Amino acid sequence: MAQVLDELLTRFLADHDPAAMEPLEFLRARYDAGLAWVHFPEGHGGLGLPREAQRQVEAAFKGTPSNRPDVNPIGLGMAAPTILAVGTEEQRERWLRPLWTGEDLWCQLFSEPGAGSDLAGLATRAVRDGDGWIVNGQKVWNSMAHKARWALLVARTDPDVPKHRGLSYFVLDMHQPGVEVRPLRQITGEAEFNEVFMTDAHIPDTDRLGDVGAGWMVANTTLMSERVSIGGQAVPRESGVLGLVAEAWRERPELRSPGAHDRLLSLWVKAEVTRQTARRLSQSLAAGKPGPEGSGMKLAFGELNQATTDFEVELLAEEGLRYDEWTMRRPDSVDFAGRGPGYRYLRAKGNSIEGGTSEILRNIIAERVLGLPGEHRVDKDIPWKDLPR
Ligand SMILES: Cc1cc2nc3c(=O)[nH]c(=O)nc-3n(C[C@H](O)[C@H](O)[C@H](O)COP(=O)(O)OP(=O)(O)OC[C@H]3O[C@@H](n4cnc5c(N)ncnc54)[C@H](O)[C@@H]3O)c2cc1C
Repeated sequence: MAQVLDELLTRFLADHDPAAMEPLEFLRARYDAGLAWVHFPEGHGGLGLPREAQRQVEAAFKGTPSNRPDVNPIGLGMAAPTILAVGTEEQRERWLRPLWTGEDLWCQLFSEPGAGSDLAGLATRAVRDGDGWIVNGQKVWNSMAHKARWALLVARTDPDVPKHRGLSYFVLDMHQPGVEVRPLRQITGEAEFNEVFMTDAHIPDTDRLGDVGAGWMVANTTLMSERVSIGGQAVPRESGVLGLVAEAWRERPELRSPGAHDRLLSLWVKAEVTRQTARRLSQSLAAGKPGPEGSGMKLAFGELNQATTDFEVELLAEEGLRYDEWTMRRPDSVDFAGRGPGYRYLRAKGNSIEGGTSEILRNIIAERVLGLPGEHRVDKDIPWKDLPR
């Protein structure tokens, strides 16, 4: 397989000189040749190859135009696997190519003021209207919603059945008058995310993903991909915040103390365990679908990043407390490496909340991985409309 793929890559690059083409045209050609995400089916940017073949592809395309995955993490990490898993051929045809090339950015409209961890309790309503749906409600903490062309949306389509059964999953066109996006400034000073208000927003029925009432099942497909894409990336040794801290330790002997040495070593070991576990997870992913084990990786990543940024601020003392920039900005991506230790410390706080809080991930590990008794759920069989809110 490696040799056939190598020949294909060499031929593609001989026929498409990245220096002589518009970056977007190059990316479109790459998608059409099945060299975007090679484990996807033919016709949808892939060749139906094992997922690990992607490494060979990325190596060959080093230095060519990038589809900037840092700017479209929800599109690439969550929307694409969901569309592939439950979308119709027409939906895959329509959405996947501009998603992969980065022409269309995506966001996720799941959380609501009254429904974060208890996502199934959400109140945004979608009501049938001829060939489509009318949506009213409010979402919150929606990363990238101000830039996104499309949104993954879970809405209540049947309030008369218990909460998990009355949800449906849609793709919402963010460029319509019924959608208002307002920035939410966070502890770092930036506004990465937003509140999104939907007032009589319209969704054609052809933009529903999965069956009516199957929204919870589809949302779980997205959430498992989310946890894996946040926590399950195979990264090089000493990368991320740990790399920056280790560099400061090596280059600045005046910062060192025996206690700090022990802490750094312990973080280094944890980072290495997390990194190797992420590698194993990405290998097992190559063989199948993301499972609840991805929750363990997301949990480990969040805790490690917080512990490492805590340590960095302590190590650098007063210097660590200086803050570089607190004017309101709307960054394209989270910049852990490009900003200072104060920013890293504050931004890491979100790691144990975004994509499911650490407490919820522990519940998932307890119930679905370890098989421990489930949390007592009294509202499972009560129609959503009768639940206290
Ligand atoms: C940086 C960032 C980006 C985000 N981006 C998005 C996005 O793009 N789209 C989107 O839809 N959402 C997004 N979110 C929202 C995020 O998914 C929610 O904040 C998260 O799911 C928690 O929900 P909540 O804030 O309503 O907290 P709550 O659910 O109210 O929880 C409050 C606390 O109670 C704990 N808790 C609740 N229930 C239980 C339980 N059963 N057992 C034990 N503990 C429990 C929680 O763990 C938490 O500590 C983002 C959040 C952050 C921080």
